[in-house]
Amino acid sequence: ATPTALLVGTGRGAQLGILIKGPQILESTRRVDTIVLDKTGTVTTGHMGVSQVHPAQGQPLEQVLAIAGALEDASEHPIGRAIAKHASETGLDLATVQDFTGHGGNGVTGVVGGHAAQAGRRSWLAEQWSLTAPANLVELAESAETEGRTPVWIAWDGSIRAVIVVSDTIKDSSPAAIADLQRLGLRPVLLTGDNERAAREVARQVGIDAEDVIADVLPSDKVDVVKRLQREGAVVAMVGDGVNDAAALAQADLGLAMGTGTDVAIEASDLTLVSGDLRAAPDAIRLARATLGTIK
Ligand code: ADP
Ligand code: MG
Repeated sequence: ATPTALLVGTGRGAQLGILIKGPQILESTRRVDTIVLDKTGTVTTGHMGVSQVHPAQGQPLEQVLAIAGALEDASEHPIGRAIAKHASETGLDLATVQDFTGHGGNGVTGVVGGHAAQAGRRSWLAEQWSLTAPANLVELAESAETEGRTPVWIAWDGSIRAVIVVSDTIKDSSPAAIADLQRLGLRPVLLTGDNERAAREVARQVGIDAEDVIADVLPSDKVDVVKRLQREGAVVAMVGDGVNDAAALAQADLGLAMGTGTDVAIEASDLTLVSGDLRAAPDAIRLARATLGTIK
């Protein structure tokens, strides 16, 4: 039988904006010592915007926006939405893309107006299509990364044509939530498919140690990071919002989904932070400790 205190705990959770799948989950909540945080949409708002467009030498800006905008218009990723919106806002009527394909956390491909186009990370364009980026654009991209931003490389017909810099905003509540988790004795780890420099800058701004940043992780590999931490002896909570977080959320000793996230993430989790405010994560841990403390 479920002790009454546990049921009270789940009721109190609901008042705090935390939905708990079952009273027994409070036990794993109490034991957690490491909390893995997805970056985009969990620590940051996930509402990206285009901050710079740098065409390669001799490449007309309008053509970059027309092709990148049309290609990304078919993508549901926040990066794709930001680029398509930016292109539309410059007054372009976006063409329809053919053969659109999403490539996990690497980028997207498709055919726009007869041009075979790619948008995504530089290492992927180099490995898949042997494309090299012009040195001046690499320099601009690296300095954008240092500021916590994400460069998206645009290529078609066998050449890199531009780099588009997108940026996200850290949620106002993130630094306080992370400080609170640390006060409770937990070790926060930032996990992301984004680039290392940007991830480190976000970590710095929210108070996560540089050595606890795990970046450039493909969606399929997030779960392996959780398994590795568990093998090292950690009791792991994972907080995420995306389809690409679902396997890691299920693997973690405790999965916490952002209520503002995808249904897949919510279904894979034990707890849902209804309003998407990360401060509910330390609240949940405090609640579990208090509830189980009353039973002992
Ligand atoms: P996160 O773990 O931060 O949620 P993702 O795994 O969703 O990140 O994406 C990782 C990286 O994949 C992005 O930083 C970007 O380089 C690339 N990417 C994903 N989707 C797109 C897209 N639609 N267009 C261009 N690049 C993309
Ligand atoms: Mg995310």
